[in-house]
Amino acid sequence: MPSIKAYGATSATEPLVPLTIERREVGPRDIQIEIQYSGICHSDLHTVRGEWGDRPYPLVPGHEIAGVVTAVGSEVTKHAVGDRVGVGCMVNSCQECVNCRRGQEQYCLGETVFTYGSVDRDGTITQGGYATQVVTDENFVVRIPDSLPLDAAAPLLCAGITTYSPLRRFGAGPGKKVAVVGLGGLGHLGVKLAHAMGAEVTVLSQSLRKLEDGKKLGADRFYATSDPATFEQLAGEFDIVLNTVSAKLDLDAYLSLVASGGTMVSVGAPPEPLSLNAFSLISMGRNYAGSMIGGIAETQEMLEFCGEHGVTAEIELIPADGINAAYDRMLASDVRYRFVIDTATLG
Ligand code: NAP
Ligand code: ZN
Repeated sequence: MPSIKAYGATSATEPLVPLTIERREVGPRDIQIEIQYSGICHSDLHTVRGEWGDRPYPLVPGHEIAGVVTAVGSEVTKHAVGDRVGVGCMVNSCQECVNCRRGQEQYCLGETVFTYGSVDRDGTITQGGYATQVVTDENFVVRIPDSLPLDAAAPLLCAGITTYSPLRRFGAGPGKKVAVVGLGGLGHLGVKLAHAMGAEVTVLSQSLRKLEDGKKLGADRFYATSDPATFEQLAGEFDIVLNTVSAKLDLDAYLSLVASGGTMVSVGAPPEPLSLNAFSLISMGRNYAGSMIGGIAETQEMLEFCGEHGVTAEIELIPADGINAAYDRMLASDVRYRFVIDTATLG
């Protein structure tokens, strides 16, 4: 099996370090990808630090993978050598259950195989994109439109689809008011996508520090949630409140911003349980929902949408030895707006 360079965690408490890992040989339905860029998602940090439960180590995170196809298996039909492609948060599923058949492989009733720290269908543990190469089933590889640069497109594979999917599901578009809570990696793409869909977009950030950026990203309005007046001023305003925050929030306060019949949807996944007062929902017939990434077909649809509308992430390209510092900045809400690893620096 080929040995390749990677960067990952050896425990929940130590900094990430250079590692050598093995990838499987290219099987009949596999695609081998030379990884060029790999985004850093807050989920990587939650996972490697054990915040979502125990994980096997060594663990190479990374599920915003962009690169070029270098080999294909004998039965592959979907991609060819030289294609610009991406891999997101999942690399396999049963592909037979009702959810897989409706294109929601992320909700597979068998078991979704996530890109890292998951048991693959051949029994091996998956390792992610902070690496120079990956071998993935062709059904979990998507095409990146030629108009999008690979480095700024990489974050679309998780942050992009995770915000696109609920915005579509709850009808973001002309005449709709969308609030995006948290202007980090997910949030900034949520703003760009909701704006491109034609909705009126408001950012709800902890402070006004990122106000200028928010406006450039396409926000019509920008408020600080540290100011209690924000919640009075915006009460009952929004058709959709998209919560991208990685920490525990006062859900009742944010639900009070949802219009009658509107929806607050959480994609942020803090380790602590969240609680809410039933009257926050009952009193205005409000909905509270959750959403995990999006299916493969919808991911391809999102990439085409981004190609047409010129939507990519605002990125800070970093070398592999900058990953630990990037984690510290992410925890301090100091991401502008996605760190992307240049995997050529893995050596
Ligand atoms: P990120 O870049 O760190 O952004 C999170 C943002 O939340 C911060 O920039 C900050 O925005 C805000 N925030 C952080 N701590 C806060 C606090 N204590 N109170 C209020 N706001 C706070 O993270 P990300 O990569 O976008 O990921 C966000 C969350 O989504 C993570 O929990 C991640 O695991 C989860 N996620 C879920 C899915 C899914 O499928 N559902 C997929 C990917 C990621 P401001 O500075 O603007 O306040
Ligand atoms: Zn992610």
